Amino acid sequence: MRRIYFLLYMIVASAFGTSCKAEDADPSRFVKQREAMIRTQIESRGINDPATLQAMRKVERHRFVPSKYQNQAYEDRPLPIGEDQTISQPYIVALMTQVLDLKENEKVLEIGTGSGYQAAVLAEICNYVYTIEIVETLGQRAQKLLADLEYTNINVKIGDGYKGWEEHSPFDAIIVTCAPTHIPEPLKKQLAEGGKMVIPVGKTFAQELVLLTKQNGEIIRKAIIPVRFVPMLGENGKKY
Ligand code: SAH
Repeated sequence: MRRIYFLLYMIVASAFGTSCKAEDADPSRFVKQREAMIRTQIESRGINDPATLQAMRKVERHRFVPSKYQNQAYEDRPLPIGEDQTISQPYIVALMTQVLDLKENEKVLEIGTGSGYQAAVLAEICNYVYTIEIVETLGQRAQKLLADLEYTNINVKIGDGYKGWEEHSPFDAIIVTCAPTHIPEPLKKQLAEGGKMVIPVGKTFAQELVLLTKQNGEIIRKAIIPVRFVPMLGENGKKY
């Protein structure tokens, strides 16, 4: 008998499958998971910039992952987002945001839109966010989601981020979320005087996250931590 009830439940649940998405079923669960993520993964590792913490508390990370991974959205790791790409680990998003020391009136460029999550975090802090994604399907999906979430301060472009986005330069901050083997020259040029760029650089699976600051036209480099990002690819599919 129990089995029949279970089967009936499954039939009903699957019939309403589209309207019973995890986020509708129990939003309070995600609120709790997000708060736990902030405390145990982010604050506990030394992130203390109030703007970064506030943005990470606000953006609903589970909206940016495929529905089958929603239950893992607040875990301490990257997750697949399709097209062999990943959404970064929450701590890395927080760390990269914090080191840029962003202010409200600043203009920031992101290379590697992916799911759009990092762009949303930036848009909670800065008035002007520009983000470039080379994989068309990902860029379009992120653009739609960010519009649905009513972010009017994010501009998404499909293209090769190695070249930057010259017409909107100079940028007060640049954040690169895919890894080239060297620092792209156009990005150095498009960084404003006094501006900061955070970028993973190095070979596949052996990269260093570095913070670059432009002072008197010179780039000053500071290593942060070893990281593992997907490679930055050109339009020909080759690694930079
Ligand atoms: N910031 C993203 C995660 C990025 S994963 C998020 O919050 O979800 C890295 C992304 O960089 C991938 O989507 C990949 O397609 C993209 N990418 C790789 N090379 C690129 C390039 N040359 N220009 C722009 N995007 C690139």
